[in-house]
Amino acid sequence: MKFADLGLSDELLQAVEAAGYDEPTPIQAQAIPSVLMMRDIIGIAQTGTGKTAGFVLPMIDILAHGRRRALMPRSLILEPTRELAAQVAENFEKYGKNSDLKMALLIGGVQMGEQIKALSEGVDVLIATPGRLMDLFERGKILLTGCNLLVIDEADRMLDMGFIPDIENICTKLPAQRQTLLFSATMPPPIEKLADKFLSNPKKVEV
Ligand code: AMP
Repeated sequence: MKFADLGLSDELLQAVEAAGYDEPTPIQAQAIPSVLMMRDIIGIAQTGTGKTAGFVLPMIDILAHGRRRALMPRSLILEPTRELAAQVAENFEKYGKNSDLKMALLIGGVQMGEQIKALSEGVDVLIATPGRLMDLFERGKILLTGCNLLVIDEADRMLDMGFIPDIENICTKLPAQRQTLLFSATMPPPIEKLADKFLSNPKKVEV
């Protein structure tokens, strides 16, 4: 399998080449075409499998070719920890440097001021931990009604950290008509339940 066979745009293929990747990893080969076809996905994959590029690359293509709606964020990536959120943000910057997509990293442990300023200027992608996202939402600083692309990453770690009620709460604030991608290293029953509730006819990809 080649990157060129997955349906990514030339801009993204250039970003992949610049990153020095010769061929897609198995999770990328399975996930990228389905994400581009707007399917919901359950990706059973651990860190180190290349799963981040598996969702970030097609997301950039979808967002770069979609229409920006006023200042409302169009996509949300939920991560269990600040470190993981920061890593995903780095990936977004690396692969999306030729796009004009705007991103906000919404994590705890840092002042809210910069995050609120970024939100008020308009962003395409929110990369967030559940606690800080809810905090900003409750302060009225984020509108989630335009977020029709959601990634729940590391779902089993979210479970271990007690974030499932937050995730459920966040899901109810997004449009019901949306694309949802859920990644998890394992699928314990509460994650199966979450997927049943919030994903629609998901394609399961497993590595
Ligand atoms: P991840 O599982 O998303 O945390 O990615 C693990 C590492 O694999 C990261 O350092 C990526 O830069 C790298 N990586 C992602 N996709 C590929 C690929 N197709 N070929 C080689 N390395 C990759």
